[in-house]
Amino acid sequence: MTLTRIGLAGLAVMGQNLALNIAEKGFPISVYNRTASKVGETVERAKLEGNLPVYGFCDPESFVNSIQKPRVIIMLVKAGAPVDQTISTLSTFMEKGDCIIDGGNEWYENTERREKAMAELGLLYLGMGVSGGEEGARHGPSLMPGGSFEAFKYIEDILLKVAAQVPDSGPCVTYIGKGGSGNFVKMVHNGIEYGDMQLIAEAYDVLKSVGKLSNNELQEVFSEWNKGELLSFLIEITADIFGIKDEKSDGYLVDKVLDKTGMKGTGKWTVQQAADLSVAAPTIEASLDLRFLSGLKEERVEAAKVFSSGGFHDILSNQPVDKARLIDDVRQALYASKICSYAQGMNLLRAKSIEKGWDLQLGELARIWKGGCIIRAIFLDRIKKAYDRNANLANLLVDPEFAKEIIDRQAAWRRVICLAVNAGITTPGMSASLAYFDTYRRERLPANLVQAQRDYFGAHTYERIDVAGSFHTEWFKIA
Ligand code: NAP
Repeated sequence: MTLTRIGLAGLAVMGQNLALNIAEKGFPISVYNRTASKVGETVERAKLEGNLPVYGFCDPESFVNSIQKPRVIIMLVKAGAPVDQTISTLSTFMEKGDCIIDGGNEWYENTERREKAMAELGLLYLGMGVSGGEEGARHGPSLMPGGSFEAFKYIEDILLKVAAQVPDSGPCVTYIGKGGSGNFVKMVHNGIEYGDMQLIAEAYDVLKSVGKLSNNELQEVFSEWNKGELLSFLIEITADIFGIKDEKSDGYLVDKVLDKTGMKGTGKWTVQQAADLSVAAPTIEASLDLRFLSGLKEERVEAAKVFSSGGFHDILSNQPVDKARLIDDVRQALYASKICSYAQGMNLLRAKSIEKGWDLQLGELARIWKGGCIIRAIFLDRIKKAYDRNANLANLLVDPEFAKEIIDRQAAWRRVICLAVNAGITTPGMSASLAYFDTYRRERLPANLVQAQRDYFGAHTYERIDVAGSFHTEWFKIA
């Protein structure tokens, strides 16, 4: 057998599909998995999907030796210890100049630790965020490679072909930066994804609970929204979801799904990083909190009984609703809230980039998220253009185009949130976004009082608006 161009270890959902994608783009690939059955399964699939050049190996040594030098191996295994174990298995047979790429959702510091350890063995290392789930991996994901630039150059030709292709924007891949930057960017991408999903869920809640829209109407509304400024993968699949009938009973499947959301950790990491870097990310935090609260199903059922006579339902049922206006208001509230959520994610990326010296290009990140990944949306084009206009933009909110869009939608945004609050419907993501906007746009906040309190009880000093310097007052003596 002639040597293959690249190897891939870890043949679960992501690995198997990415291997087939790479082979389909004309790069012969060797594949390996700890459990041998998945190797046969992948080779079989490759035959069925057009005799793709996929070569299976069940022992790591022959797998490594089947790849042309310098060898490049992508790993797609569970993050954490399995990555260390796979590296240890493969690196035994690898040689100086070879390269390992971790395509999993890994904590960025683990990647930095491994990159150093690999460098001591003369091996190159990349941490590459891969977004787009099963479909993306098979037909074109968004790829976020970070780490060794030399390693990126080895496989740039493959990545450019394997990534999603967006007309006028090119392949959804770019070299992200040094160290664990690729994993970090993927993590924030996932945090933004949490925010998007929460905001869409709130739009659904208001339309269903206040507007009394049926699943058919919801499908129509989301399909219509998907033709305009909200056009995105998540809006598209949401429209689809409302049309799916339940196979096990009457009615629609969405109504039978338990209201408990799972998570794997990248949203939590995003919020922890925002706190560590003192970056406000209230919309993303709200979406994480809602996942925690959704998990308290049994407690919520009990609380609903305690507050059943709370009056919310009276307000709801007595309120006449203009459906057409409500639908249009919710669309505008969703869009304005989304701008705030992305502003938070982008600011987190910039703060980390400064801390680590990664030199992240925020506009370029928006470009590579335009295809392949879960948050792909027409809206990302506007973000790219905003950073093209001003790469040092302090906040997306003050970009002239976004500022105008927010101003135009402000009235509708506030109407939706007031309506939701009065109806006892939770819109924590939309409310957090509006609070973020309202706080950011205010010249003077009540923070003067908080600072006075800090100085009163803790002598933390304060600054004045009229004289430079640090001041302390013995407030209790005067009071
Ligand atoms: P996964 O369920 O996260 O992991 C399964 C793979 O890991 C299998 O190949 C398994 O091998 C291997 N593995 C587990 N423990 C191992 C160990 N101790 N030593 C060696 N191999 C071990 O698979 P996935 O869903 O395809 O995801 C792969 C990576 O991509 C993860 O980091 C995930 O977070 C990330 N990701 C997933 C998605 C998605 O939609 N699924 C999207 C983007 C990114 P065996 O078959 O031998 O058990």
